[in-house]
This record gives sequence, structure tokens and C-alpha cells, in this order.
Amino acid sequence: MRIIIGGVPLRKDELWQAALSSIHRLERIDKGDVLSSRPLPLMPKQYYASVAQIEQRNLFGAAMKAQAYAALSATTPLEPFELQRRDVRPSDVLIEILYCGVCHSDIHQARGEWGNSVYPMVPGHEIVGRVAKVGGSAKKFSVGDLVGVGCMVDSCRACPSCKGGEEQYCGGHLSLTYNSTEQDQKTPTHGGYSSHIVVDESFVLRVDPKLDLRAVAPLLCAGITTYSPLKHWKIGEGHKVGVLGLGGLGHMAVKFAVAFGAEVTVISTSRSKEADARRLGAHHFLLSTEQDQVAKASCRFDFVLDTVSGSHDLNAVLGMIKLNGNLVLVGVPTEAPPIHPFSIIMPRRSVSGSAIGGIRETQEMLDFCASRDIVSDVEMIRMSQINEAYERVLKGDVRYRFVIDVAAR
Ligand code: NAP
Ligand code: ZN
Ligand code: ZN
Repeated sequence: MRIIIGGVPLRKDELWQAALSSIHRLERIDKGDVLSSRPLPLMPKQYYASVAQIEQRNLFGAAMKAQAYAALSATTPLEPFELQRRDVRPSDVLIEILYCGVCHSDIHQARGEWGNSVYPMVPGHEIVGRVAKVGGSAKKFSVGDLVGVGCMVDSCRACPSCKGGEEQYCGGHLSLTYNSTEQDQKTPTHGGYSSHIVVDESFVLRVDPKLDLRAVAPLLCAGITTYSPLKHWKIGEGHKVGVLGLGGLGHMAVKFAVAFGAEVTVISTSRSKEADARRLGAHHFLLSTEQDQVAKASCRFDFVLDTVSGSHDLNAVLGMIKLNGNLVLVGVPTEAPPIHPFSIIMPRRSVSGSAIGGIRETQEMLDFCASRDIVSDVEMIRMSQINEAYERVLKGDVRYRFVIDVAAR
């Protein structure tokens, strides 16, 4: 049996996409079948995709096996792991993952630092990929579309937060992308350090193909986590903003706060990051390890976004915030930091927190990035380099996000 796809000549790079869009409608393909973009035998051999290649890419069969990297315990390095993705349900899309960012939350959870880890765990919630199959009732996407998945893959959809488009604050059951469960509250979810993922299309984002896709991946967590609070507190022209910690989140916070028109200061423990801070658009740089610099910044900022992953003194940070100003925490250090009441009483200051962003706002952020050519600064790695990458993140040795090239094993 031979299968002819289309009937028009295609460029070589279009063949795979054409094959994908046709294959998912076929019930069965036998060994030796040939896929062609135009009637055989006119098709030159190099334009054929063999069934063997297709099987290798796991596009068939009820049992979808994905090749992944997993943490099997809090104290062992991540290792190769095969996992079974669920069958594509009517409202699902199957995504072939191209790139996945490495968030510090991956490290916190893989190493059990938040006390809620379940193993085996396949981390990764900064996912960019290509739709490989769509369910019968899925409408948003077609095979071949470029898409993103962030920190959530489902939610109760019935509570006030879900109805208001802020699924991240779901009062029912929030299905995070990994280290969580599906809506049945039993089936574990697994993340983007993986060749494929199956996600309900409501939690899948459109990605603009004109951007560098590798550098888009971190927008799905680091991007939205910093965009959302800046929007919520209506940061813009006339605001003095401090970004505490210049890491994966911090460097995106600088880009967004600058794009919104604020006067931005990077507050960092790393003298070596000053030039980068200015290149990213920051107007000022403050070395938080120098007491005189911190003292001089007393009551300076309207808004400080704290993206720090490790323990630090929040009272000292609060001292830099002016009357009615806000300290917003997005970083989640392992230890709970003490706050002295006087640090917020005099002069009246607020401390808040913020979690990622809703699906609607995440799409808004991705569209904003596409319109302003904003992406992350990334360093590419292979999946097999993940443990080394974790160590480097912990040393602050990344400018400013590692991204896994999932196909490059
Ligand atoms: P990251 O790339 O490692 O950056 C963290 C930065 O914090 C470092 O680059 C460093 O910046 C600073 N830092 C680290 N340890 C410090 C310490 N002990 N004292 C002072 N500064 C320190 O991490 P990330 O991926 O941006 O994530 C940051 C935090 O946000 C993590 O805790 C993560 O779990 C959390 N997070 C929260 C959300 C949310 O929804 N709220 C979403 C994603 C991530 P300098 O060298 O400039 O000082
Ligand atoms: Zn994250
Ligand atoms: Zn809900």
C-alpha cells in the first residue's frame, strides 16, 4: 500500500508538515509504506518519509511513549525516562516539543525544596512545540501550528478565578504542568523535559513564528510571571521600579518594565551583571551587598519586584520602598523570611505576591512580545546536560535562561 499526500509538489521542508496533517486521519499504516507529497513514482527518493521514521517520532498508536528526563528522588540527578502520554481526547492537542526552558522552580521541585514533590517527576513548564495531532472537537489549532504551554495544563473552570480568566488562582483543582495531577486528581502530570505532551487546547497558547522560538520558551513562565504583576499594579511612565535579582525572571522583568516606560533599577548581588543590566535597558544598577548603596536608596521605589530564589533580608528591601509603595514577591526561597512590622508601618508599605498569569493574559503577553520583538536571553543545552545546567543556575552562571533543545539528545 502506498499513500499519496496532496498532489502538488512541495518543498522538502514542507513534506513533514504535510505528512503530519494527513497521517493523523489515517487508521493504519503498514511497514514499507511510503509517504509522498505527489504521485509516485515522480517523487524523488529523498522526499519520502518512511514509516520507520514516523514510528520513531512516536506519532502513532494508542500508547504514546515520550522520551523524557525525570527526577526519581530529591537527591539523585535527573535521568532518561520513558513516559506514557494519554491518548488524545477530543479537546486535546498532541504537541511535539521543540524547546523547554529551565526555571528555578524546576530545581526547587526536583530537589524537594518546597516539600510537595512527587516522584518520578518530569519537570519543565516553559514549553514551545509544534502541534502534531488534534482531537476531534479541538478548534483552536491545526497540525503544524507553533504553540506554547506554560505552568498550567488544566483547572476546574467553574470557580470565580477560572471564570475570570485567572486560572492560576483556581479555587478548585489546578492541574500544574508537572508535579501535580490531572482533573481526576489521580493521574500525575509530567512536564516539558520530554519529546511530546498532550494538553487540552484551552491551556495551549499561540506562538508567533517570526520570533526566535528558542528564546520564546522562557516567556511561558519567566515572561508571564513578571509581566502579570507589572500589569496588575499598572506600572508605567513615572514609576520608579526596582527589580531584585537578575536571573531568568529578573531579566524579563527589566525588559517589560522598560517597555512599559518605567525608570528601572536592577538590585543585584552580582557586580558582574551591571553591564548586562544596562544592556537589557535598566537605567540604574544597585549592588545590594554594599550597605551605603542600599542606604542611599532609602524610600526610593514605587514598586519592587522580588525575583530572588534564595534567602535574603526583606526588611532591607522594604527600606528602599517609598510611602504607599509595593513589594511584590514572585521568588520562592525555601525558608520563610521574617518581616518586622515597622518595615511596613513606617512609611505605609505593602507586601504582596503574584503567581504566573492566566491563560488570557499569557496570550496577551506573547502577542505583546511579538509586537515589540521581546524574547529571553538564552543559552541552549541538550537534555543530557540538564544536571550540569542545574548546578550552573545555582551558581548564577547563566545569562539568563537555559533552554533545552529537546530534539538534540
Ligand atoms: P534564577 O534564574 O536562579 O534567578 C534568581 C536570581 O536571584 C539570581 O540570579 C540572583 O540574582 C538572585 N539570588 C539568588 N540567590 C540569592 C540570595 N540568596 N540572595 C540574594 N539574591 C539571590 O531563578 P528564576 O528562574 O528567575 O526564579 C526565581 C524565583 O522565582 C525562584 O524561587 C522560582 O521558584 C520563583 N518563581 C516563581 C513564580 C511565580 O509564579 N511566583 C514563577 C516562576 C518562578 P543576582 O545575581 O542579580 O543577585
Ligand atoms: Zn517557572
Ligand atoms: Zn477554578
